[in-house]
Amino acid sequence: MKLTFLGSGGGRFATRTQKRMTGGFRIDNIDGMNLHIDPGPGALVRTYQFGLSPLKLNGVLVSHSHTDHYSDAEVLIEAMTRGMTRKKGFLIGSKSVIDGYKRWGPCISQYHKSIPKVNVLDAGESVKMGKLSITATTTKHGDPKAVGFKFKVDDFTISYTSDTGYIPELAKEHEDADVLIASVIRPGDDRLHGHLCTNDFAKLVEEISPKLGIMTHLGMKLIMNNPDQEAERVRNNTGKQIIAAYDGMKIDLDDFRPKQQTLDEF
Ligand SMILES: [Zn+2]
Ligand SMILES: [Zn+2]
Repeated sequence: MKLTFLGSGGGRFATRTQKRMTGGFRIDNIDGMNLHIDPGPGALVRTYQFGLSPLKLNGVLVSHSHTDHYSDAEVLIEAMTRGMTRKKGFLIGSKSVIDGYKRWGPCISQYHKSIPKVNVLDAGESVKMGKLSITATTTKHGDPKAVGFKFKVDDFTISYTSDTGYIPELAKEHEDADVLIASVIRPGDDRLHGHLCTNDFAKLVEEISPKLGIMTHLGMKLIMNNPDQEAERVRNNTGKQIIAAYDGMKIDLDDFRPKQQTLDEF
């Protein structure tokens, strides 16, 4: 099972300047399936750049209706369904992404929703595919219907907060995360409404105690402020394995599955 970051940037400034790439991330070979999560601008191009194929996707997941999370979803759906000719794959999204909610979304056309199996998830709702269960988690963000995603197969859990401010629900809903992926937009204690800063992330790591914590969706201020050093600070404060994502970063998730030793270095 592999995790690939098709970008480590997020937020409006990082996205429009492409100081960091914004293609979201892929989980490959999770119960035999390949998933693309939050395909923002560049997702298709970065997929090829980092040696993957969009034709091999089984699912596209979009957490909310901001462009840095959904802009390339339709072209990936076309790749997944071989140009909309095959009834293949699934699309999972928040209500805002799939149906639209007030002034948020919808982000996917009727045409692109007509071929894959479509699931709308509100926080707390799950879908199951084979051994894999995907649960939507609570956020506090500009899009009121935004969700995070929790992927569970056997006793292994990968959790993604998506964009959210710090709320107590995060610790509870992501508590069983072996690997925690969080959108961390600003350094230190620099809070932006509806987003995590590094100190919020450190608190969350303390509460959840994941085997691996990954900061991604880095905003401009964090990108300019040495993200590796920020990650190191969280690592030193929590004693947990913490890294800041970089564009194209690949992680072998099998190293973090229960009953296996974690890596000291990678
Ligand atoms: Zn975002
Ligand atoms: Zn957002």
